[in-house]
Amino acid sequence: MVDRVSTGTNRSLDAVQQPCVRDRLERMDLEATGSAAALVDSSRRIVVLTGAGVSTDSGIPDFRGPDGLWTRDPDAEKYSSIAYYLADPEIRRRAWQHRLTNPAWTATPNPGHDALVDLERSGRLELLVTQNIDGLHVRAGNDPSGVVEVHGTIRSARCVSCDWRGPMADVLDRVRAGEPDPSCEVCGGVVKSATVFFGESLDPEDLRRSFDAAARCDLLVCIGTSLQVYPVADMVPTALRSGARLIIVNAEVTPYDDAADVVVRGSISEVLPKLFA
Ligand code: NAD
Repeated sequence: MVDRVSTGTNRSLDAVQQPCVRDRLERMDLEATGSAAALVDSSRRIVVLTGAGVSTDSGIPDFRGPDGLWTRDPDAEKYSSIAYYLADPEIRRRAWQHRLTNPAWTATPNPGHDALVDLERSGRLELLVTQNIDGLHVRAGNDPSGVVEVHGTIRSARCVSCDWRGPMADVLDRVRAGEPDPSCEVCGGVVKSATVFFGESLDPEDLRRSFDAAARCDLLVCIGTSLQVYPVADMVPTALRSGARLIIVNAEVTPYDDAADVVVRGSISEVLPKLFA
């Protein structure tokens, strides 16, 4: 099924594998990358959907990968759940401490992000939809008007009561100054990052743009996402119903691998420059 054009990740190569097996897998990986590059070259309206895997090579862990945040600490999921966050001040205090040390503050874009800037400059990128909250696509140089941060951004803060929004850096200064759970200075409400928590709704306009683009594209490229978070993952069947081709670049199996024209199992920061440069 999946591996008709892919290798399986290098993680699966253990020390006891025969050199000929390794050679065969590496050859298949090159074949998959070549097939994906040819598909990119022949497409004119490309939509890209990215997930946490694009940023792991920038030092930001994903959630569900082998070294993912939730894989290592199942409790961490509660920091992104609106029910837990509103109900439990201790969860909020811990969430603020996590935000202080979020690797996104020091991370820089990697060659995978840079390759998506190259794709935009080629004039064939219709829309870049990212589930990432780290802001690295825009920092790499993608035009903000062509990027939908469908799960929001950690770079802003928001009040859940009056919808006040402001720079996250200012609220983090208050945490550093001794407020463990800073409340809204306008209405006293609970403040969180301007990211979409589990139990919250996505912005309807962001969803409209993302699904319209998926329905119009001739190629959808899903990169570094487990495609397990809905409704965003539904962009895949939306694009397929409209006749678009599908490329998946991800280290692990996703629920849509069987529907893809090409699955590339390689490292994102190595594969994307070969697809888009
Ligand atoms: P996910 O954690 O569910 O899946 C990431 C996938 O990327 C995994 O299947 C993993 O195997 C793969 N991957 C990781 N590094 C890779 C690499 N270098 N090369 C190839 N594949 C690699 O992520 P998701 O699907 O984006 O969903 C998780 C949710 O978590 C999203 O809603 C997102 O908002 C949030 N999140 C964001 C960030 C970020 O902003 N950087 C980080 C963690 C989680």
